[in-house]
Amino acid sequence: MTTSVEELSQQVSINLERLADVDAPPLNVHTVGEYVYCKRAGTIAFESGVEAADDVPLPPALGGLPWHDLDRLRARKSELLEYVKIPIACNVGVWVLLLLVRLTLGTIYAMGLAPALYYFGRWLVGTLRDLHRLTMRIRVAEQAAQQEPDWDERRIQKINYWGLVRAGFVVEEKDNLVDRQLGLSGCPWRVLHRENRVYPVLRVSTTQDSGELRRYGQLRDSQLAKMAAYSHLLHLCERAESSWAIVLLDATDEGFAIPVTEKAWSLFRDGVAMSRREIRLMQQDPRRMPAPNDNACRRCPLAEQREYDAKQVGIAAPTGPRPFRTSTQSGKSFHCACGDRFGWLPPHEENSQLGF
Ligand code: SF4
Repeated sequence: MTTSVEELSQQVSINLERLADVDAPPLNVHTVGEYVYCKRAGTIAFESGVEAADDVPLPPALGGLPWHDLDRLRARKSELLEYVKIPIACNVGVWVLLLLVRLTLGTIYAMGLAPALYYFGRWLVGTLRDLHRLTMRIRVAEQAAQQEPDWDERRIQKINYWGLVRAGFVVEEKDNLVDRQLGLSGCPWRVLHRENRVYPVLRVSTTQDSGELRRYGQLRDSQLAKMAAYSHLLHLCERAESSWAIVLLDATDEGFAIPVTEKAWSLFRDGVAMSRREIRLMQQDPRRMPAPNDNACRRCPLAEQREYDAKQVGIAAPTGPRPFRTSTQSGKSFHCACGDRFGWLPPHEENSQLGF
């Protein structure tokens, strides 16, 4: 027999109330997800205190342009249309000056303006390129077909982000959402809101998955726990129905609507209990070494080796653990986040390519 959304929500509230503990260490959603993934990853997340809603940076070429919010895309385009007049005027000015110098003083003197030509030209081209990208992006958003999953069918369904926006969902950014009773805080990357429905939007990387995520929207346990945690916080703080999550693949507009199932709630609830237990054990014995999740090390981002740079390591973690350095046969030194914290070389799949 399947459980209805209301029954499930009631069971979740009762189960989470049982976890209320004022003495428990405060947790963020990222930490809970990381503990579900691996106890060592959870320890690193807890000690960093950083809430990371998703693991997909936007492509650098987008240069911080607002990429998933139509109102902000339009506002930015209007700003740029005003702003572009400045580099155009500068370019016209420098070309007129160049012409005058050439006519009065000669070509040699005119060539002295080459750096200014280069600088203002680059400025104009960069601004026009941003304008072009914004225009294309707005066009994609405006031409998307209205589309939404069948919310009565509690199964994973493909979605297009702009299709949901066209179906009336409003994109919102939330401040930190907090459940004081549970000692949990977090903030999803975006929220889609329509009437009484409020769904967290998560972006997930497909580089670590075996294809199940891309083809069928199958999330890892840690991602399911995070998804349920954000849904819980939204349900509590917004007093709205939040029994689905929207998952976007990498930095694309494609993804899945995923129902928050009993399995996801259990992973979240058990993840909170396990995180607290592990944190308390670690506080009693800071040298404690929780067992690694051997199956996950091969593709774990915390096991990715980076070349050792004394200056950067010092800036990034002035009071953190000493880097655990490993040298290749060519004499280069590498380190990784998990290695630094636990003093070992995790068996990442790229280690052999580096020559360890
Ligand atoms: S490298 Fe392995 S042990 Fe370390 S956090 Fe990742 S999965 Fe856990």
